[in-house]
Amino acid sequence: MSPPKLAAIKGMNDILPPVSGQWEWLEGIVRSLMARHAYRNIRTPIVEPTQLFVRGLGEVTDIVEKEMYSFEDRLNGEQLTLRPENTAGVVRAVVEHSMLYEGGKRLYYMGPMFRHERPQRGRYRQFHQIGAEALGFAGPDVDAELILLADALWRELGLTDVRLEINSLGQLDERQRHRAELIAYLERHADQLDEDARRRLHSNPLRILDTKNPAMQSLVEGAPRLIDFLGAASLAHFAGLRAILDANDIAYRINPRLVRGLDYYNLSVFEFVTDRLGAQGTVCAGGRYDGLIGEIGGKPAPAVGWALGVERVLELLREQGTEAPALQPDVYAIVPDAQAMPLVLRTLRALRAAGVSVQMHAASAEGLGSMKSQFKKADVSGARHALIFGADELATGEVTLKSLRDGAGAQSRRVLAQVDEWAASLKP
Ligand code: ATP
Ligand code: MG
Repeated sequence: MSPPKLAAIKGMNDILPPVSGQWEWLEGIVRSLMARHAYRNIRTPIVEPTQLFVRGLGEVTDIVEKEMYSFEDRLNGEQLTLRPENTAGVVRAVVEHSMLYEGGKRLYYMGPMFRHERPQRGRYRQFHQIGAEALGFAGPDVDAELILLADALWRELGLTDVRLEINSLGQLDERQRHRAELIAYLERHADQLDEDARRRLHSNPLRILDTKNPAMQSLVEGAPRLIDFLGAASLAHFAGLRAILDANDIAYRINPRLVRGLDYYNLSVFEFVTDRLGAQGTVCAGGRYDGLIGEIGGKPAPAVGWALGVERVLELLREQGTEAPALQPDVYAIVPDAQAMPLVLRTLRALRAAGVSVQMHAASAEGLGSMKSQFKKADVSGARHALIFGADELATGEVTLKSLRDGAGAQSRRVLAQVDEWAASLKP
């Protein structure tokens, strides 16, 4: 009897080649772009104390209320959680290591996040975020820099179907005045509130404006708008952001109903959204969170950042028909006789050191197989050239180079001892 099959956990996906090649392509573009914007990589643990997220995200957020993977450490009873997002972890690390001591820091991360949600298109239980955070900077110039950074990423990926929505959440006192009027308004229409909204009416009414329930849309449209409660300083910050976006021809829509799910945001909030991914239309979301560093126990300092969902970005690229360049070897090495292997690997080693990507024909239990079957594998590999290590050519210290694509069939010989000289011609 064979043992029962093991499968991945629902909502947690294996990322296999060739799709993993698209991930690497995207990550490569992100690394290059972050370097050009002087954002430095940070890597924090996947498991954090549960309390970090309770304090950092707020108790009445979807994440903390119902989406966290939490467990007790078997040895010391500590409450732990798989990170549902990375901003809280970044802020903890920044505080713990006094990273703002010498001034602001620009950081970015990439990695898996975990939320116990109902798996569906664009919504998984292990998903991946790329995020950028600028800590210690108060002005709208950094908010704009972050938005321009995301915009540059869309350009370099070839992503066209996203649009930018922005809003300002003002400051706490402004939100409190708005909140009182909002609650009064919602209480007057209590009969139209769904269960979630009724529960949030007094704990987090701003989040009601973010509802996805179609039956509540008209109620929400008519609600008092936070933006009408902002004072001069908040409005100036918002205007500063808009002036930079305008000067850079970044199109945006002011969406007064844009509020983030997380409680620590203030002033600028923004989202890049698309209509092409169904209900999971937010590709990238961010904003200012000047209150978080103090909340987590650091010396209060302003901060702003965004996070994008890698799965959603890649899904949108696929939807648009933009494919990452496929990963194909430059060369497939054909080896008729196993005796030649030591020499073959020495040559391939030199090619690889020179930057040529080489797939070697490897032996199976039955041996290396016929030339015909080796050429078939060379075709499947997508390589542009075959290098044939046949006995005849090896006898004269040479190898045959055969073109598999443009001018297919053309072949000529190369001197093995001069591999460093002809290696470069095999690169794309
Ligand atoms: P949503 O409203 O879609 O639930 P959110 O407000 O919970 O999103 P954030 O916490 O702001 O999302 O996370 C930033 C981004 O991470 C989202 O815009 C989205 O692209 C991605 N994301 C969030 N949750 C998931 C998930 N469960 N699966 C895949 N991507 C996700
Ligand atoms: Mg969510």
